[in-house]
Amino acid sequence: MIRTREATIAQEAATLAPYAQRSGQSAGRRHPEPPHPLRTEYQRDYARIIHSRAFRRLEYKTQVFLNGTGDHLRTRLTHTMEVVSITRCIARALGLNEDLAEAIALAHDLGHAPFGHAGEEALDGLMRAHGGFDHNEQSLRLVELIEKKYPHFEGLNLTFELLEGLQKHREIYLPPPGSHALCYLNPSLEAQVANLADEIAYYSHDLDDGLDCHLIHPAQLGELDVWRESHDDVKRRFPEIEGRELNAYVIRCIIDREVEDVVTTTDAAIRASGVSSVEEVRRQPHPLVSYSEGLARANQQLRTFLYAHLYHHPDVAQMNGRACEMLGRVFEAYLAKPHLLGSITSARVECDGLHRAVCDYLAGMTDRYLLDEYARLFPAA
Ligand code: MG
Repeated sequence: MIRTREATIAQEAATLAPYAQRSGQSAGRRHPEPPHPLRTEYQRDYARIIHSRAFRRLEYKTQVFLNGTGDHLRTRLTHTMEVVSITRCIARALGLNEDLAEAIALAHDLGHAPFGHAGEEALDGLMRAHGGFDHNEQSLRLVELIEKKYPHFEGLNLTFELLEGLQKHREIYLPPPGSHALCYLNPSLEAQVANLADEIAYYSHDLDDGLDCHLIHPAQLGELDVWRESHDDVKRRFPEIEGRELNAYVIRCIIDREVEDVVTTTDAAIRASGVSSVEEVRRQPHPLVSYSEGLARANQQLRTFLYAHLYHHPDVAQMNGRACEMLGRVFEAYLAKPHLLGSITSARVECDGLHRAVCDYLAGMTDRYLLDEYARLFPAA
């Protein structure tokens, strides 16, 4: 039996929660396309992202530790896959559209610059007088303009609901192009889930990688409620495990607890709000997907700890500082010699200006490409 797109749409109607985003009710794409016989609109979005160049480059972009410094440390790609996995679990438990939620998670970091957040800050500084740089905005630029795959439009022509999910940290969400809908306050629950799953993933895996690299020591973690509660629980159940095995299992339990907390808290918030459609979700004054108050407080404590002891650790900062210096020099070199830019970027100089075109070019680079490019441009350095 072949399961057609119509059959999947019917299945969504029968099985998803009333406040889930159904693929059959998508507001569509900027450039209308005929429906696919087998795949729903969000399954097509998912495939378009997987097959993009920006997605493949995530493999060689930094999460926290400079790409290539450790074979099992997270890269931007493995971070993304962890976010997808957590997103799927929460979306499924809440009866949401997993295809949409996963596709948003898959695309959420496409716009990241090389060298992680340090690279983003450096690029933002270099672009201060020209509109700045933000990886969330860059993800949208990538899928709407920069990726070249189709002969009849720029970008990947993703659905409105996918683009909505990438408008992270906006206070007002824009209606789909050509629609008469008003601006609204929140995205779909699928987008809200992907957003929180990102946090759950990086809180836990950055802690894991920090321990693995001995930049964080277990003795420092007793002050963190999130760690202590899971640690004590694991020790009660498995008193014999120690060291790396203990740390790894505590991290696993932290993720599990965070996911369970978000599912329970969000389910209660959905019931209390009385929403019965995705449009009502969008009109809510606040996001419905959230941690419990207790866990939100504990996560804030963890976040502060990670900034102080990992992201700003002298070893990490020194490595990133050197990498960002190179990024700055390469940026200036392209400004001085625009003929060095690739052909696709050169074509954008006219409409976006030289600074934005150079910024797009650098943001698209992997860590290693930028290091190679630096060596080519400054052979004596
Ligand atoms: Mg992320």
